[in-house]
Amino acid sequence: MEARGLATLAAVEGSSRGRPLVIGHRSDGATALFDVAGFVVGAHVLEDGEWWLQVETTADRVRCPSCGVRAVGHGRRRVQVRDLPIAGRPVRLVWAKRIWRCPDGDCATVTWSETHEQISPRALLTRRARIEICRRVGQDAESVAEVAREFGVGWHTAMAAVREHGMSLVDDPERLGAPSALGLDETSFLRAGPKHPTVMITGFVDLDRHLLLDVAEGRSGQVVRDWLDDRPAEWVAAIDVAVIDPFRGYATGLTDRLTDAAIVVDHFHAIRLANKAIDDARRRVQQESLGHCGRRDDPLYRIRRRLLVGHERLTDQQHERILMMLGHGDRHGDVTNTYLAKELLRDVYDAKTVRSARRRLRRFYEHCDQTGVRECRRLARTIRAWENEVLAFHTTGRSNGPTEGINLLIKKVKRVGHGFRSFNNYRLRLLLHCGVTWHTVPTARMRGRQPRFIA
Ligand SMILES: [Zn+2]
Repeated sequence: MEARGLATLAAVEGSSRGRPLVIGHRSDGATALFDVAGFVVGAHVLEDGEWWLQVETTADRVRCPSCGVRAVGHGRRRVQVRDLPIAGRPVRLVWAKRIWRCPDGDCATVTWSETHEQISPRALLTRRARIEICRRVGQDAESVAEVAREFGVGWHTAMAAVREHGMSLVDDPERLGAPSALGLDETSFLRAGPKHPTVMITGFVDLDRHLLLDVAEGRSGQVVRDWLDDRPAEWVAAIDVAVIDPFRGYATGLTDRLTDAAIVVDHFHAIRLANKAIDDARRRVQQESLGHCGRRDDPLYRIRRRLLVGHERLTDQQHERILMMLGHGDRHGDVTNTYLAKELLRDVYDAKTVRSARRRLRRFYEHCDQTGVRECRRLARTIRAWENEVLAFHTTGRSNGPTEGINLLIKKVKRVGHGFRSFNNYRLRLLLHCGVTWHTVPTARMRGRQPRFIA
């Protein structure tokens, strides 16, 4: 296949009696579209589904790098390299690289070949192709396999390009900026398998810029301390709020290093705890009253999802249905009371001032304590243990909304990658997708202003 493409190019170069699949020869148009300064496109041929472009530099007055005498040509050598695809087809550049010779017999330099910043010696891809592969895999979260196929290279070559260009973006100290608010959350990296338990990772999010700063393997206070210890002291000192899920390890890890920062447990995580209490109560009641776990026709099982929705988002009809099903399936009112506890906790977060939040919190505790429902009391105990952090939501006005948004992006990258095995690759892909600001040039709207030549 390779020989055929080359033979076709040779035919174009040699005579106009080339084979009929020849598309063009020395076109200014092709050179303009190829768009690499210093290069002209000789022949361009579509062969076996890929574009073959024969290119050469325009340099014809070259001086010897040692003595400065004008060099003379000493033949050419062909170099093949992949470039950006054209209209979805892979492109193979055949660069007829010039060899130069110094005519001065006394000069130490005898011959040398020309170089170009886009095509490094022995590279499989042009520089711009490597950058574009990194952008598509990183910014666009496309799969490496998919991008590799379009560029006509193997998976490992594409991934090497992502790593080479991506690491410099990720390691840039400027990337971390100077956030005043930090969000922490856990996501799973590897599900438990026969050889290892579930591996969790801790994500660090800049809540001002909605940017993933980093991910670290594990979920503990030590992970947080280690990560903060690797940052410059003044960077750490500038953080005055940290928003976390109610996990003691995170709280102690943070207070050990961010001595003056406020720690916040926001509504996402608090309500998640309340929803878990509802699920637990529902399962227990189902088991106790029916002797089995939820089945399709069980009244409580039928409303299991509705119970987790904020009540103002339900229609009157849906609300009535919930009440009816609770009437059928919740004889002692345990699920109903846990559901009410969740709504009372939501009221705490909806309060406009700290004072009213405090008042609502007392009402929530009273309700939980009075009902005597196991799940309510456990929920109240947890919230009591985190009371300062819950109220800090009102003093700081900070929530982990950006972190939750980034968790969705993390899941997307994970899905596209079909499960990562290497943490370093995973971290790189995550940071390229949600931790780097890409400076891509926005294009004008199709129906907007147009260049003047289009009449
Ligand atoms: Zn010389």
